[in-house]
Amino acid sequence: MNKISLYSQTVSPRLKYAAQYIFEDLMGLMPYWASSAEELAAMSGTAKILLQNNVAGNVSGLPSLYVDDWILHPSNEILPASELENKWQNTMFPAPSPANDTLLLNFDIFSAVFFLLSRYEEYRKNISLDNYGRFPATASYLHKTGELQKPVINIWATVLREKLQHVYPSLKFELPQFEKIPTIDIDHGFLVKNKPFYKQAGGLIKYPKQFLQRLSVMLGLREDPFFNLSQIIELHRLLGLKSRFFFHCANYKNSIDNANVLPSKKYAEFLKNSNYEDDIEIGLHLSYSASFSGNRTFAQNEKSFLEKFVQHKIYSNRNHFLMLSLPQTYTMLESMHIIDDYTMGYADCAGFRAGCCTPFHWYDLSNERKTTLKIFPLTCMDTTFSRYLHCTEDEAFEKMTELREKVRMANGVFIPLFHNETFALGSKKIWQQYETLLAE
Ligand SMILES: [Zn+2]
Repeated sequence: MNKISLYSQTVSPRLKYAAQYIFEDLMGLMPYWASSAEELAAMSGTAKILLQNNVAGNVSGLPSLYVDDWILHPSNEILPASELENKWQNTMFPAPSPANDTLLLNFDIFSAVFFLLSRYEEYRKNISLDNYGRFPATASYLHKTGELQKPVINIWATVLREKLQHVYPSLKFELPQFEKIPTIDIDHGFLVKNKPFYKQAGGLIKYPKQFLQRLSVMLGLREDPFFNLSQIIELHRLLGLKSRFFFHCANYKNSIDNANVLPSKKYAEFLKNSNYEDDIEIGLHLSYSASFSGNRTFAQNEKSFLEKFVQHKIYSNRNHFLMLSLPQTYTMLESMHIIDDYTMGYADCAGFRAGCCTPFHWYDLSNERKTTLKIFPLTCMDTTFSRYLHCTEDEAFEKMTELREKVRMANGVFIPLFHNETFALGSKKIWQQYETLLAE
């Protein structure tokens, strides 16, 4: 049997959303909502859970889970930080709660899951954003509790699954399979090429370590090292993986959005000859300017530009600088018919921003609805380790490998983010290290 029947006196859209993720997406069960406690008690051929707001009141003897008022009767107002902290510590996060014999867990898993997936805490007022206007990892509850590097939702679901299996030995779970989705951001198509001569010459002086590399490209003695997409594809192909490239298409003449990828003959030819069936998927790398300001015209122009260049519709995206401002960014992406977004991660810290490593649909708090926008949670980004955590290349790969193993244990999706630049400017063994990271 793979059916799970639930009953709650009150069923809110938030509760349904969280329950669907826990039982359907993470366990492969089919949830059914009974209309009364009596109906639930009388059902057969199904696992049953009574969802209780008052834990003292379970006289049915059925296995139960505690559900807090917070998710049953949601308010349009975001709770102030102090109240939220109280709520988080006392009912959501695994913590002692009034126990009775039938309770499967000692905390409200539905509220905790909803809190993390919806990114509720990012809507709070008076948060100190970072220099780029982003919600920093240090402001998150998972960082405060030291749990950011664990896919806590997947771990809670595993605990619940084991308890259910104990109570219902014939319950058949269909667990998702561990997957790897390598993703590459193309911020700059070329190290040297496609830049005016004064910039090429200036680069020789500004970056003395790259002097020979740059000069040989200028003299036409070698290929521009950032134009390494074929090599990346070949490596992924050997590992049986598809390459996902996100192209930054905007040049707004500022220090952040100054892409030089498109249009260029080299990339045009490369994209024309690519095998979209098996090898690559092209996504938009929405500019910082568009995602920061929520300027839909900018965003739509960038998408149209890329579509024209690749000659097909674009359905996936990741924001440059991982700039994410809720709900504006996701509302805008949804209105542009983006289906998959890969922005959910922190630049300043590796780990699980939404507490999970399994894709989920974004929940629109303002309109109380599950959206069609699917969020692919990032596992780690190359520049987090080099730029923010000041790790060596070896240390970075070691940490990424640890995260990959946590995702594997959770049957999740391992989604590393690399840049084409990282391979070009890294050490000689970087390709080998990257291959090992994805091969195992
Ligand atoms: Zn970028």
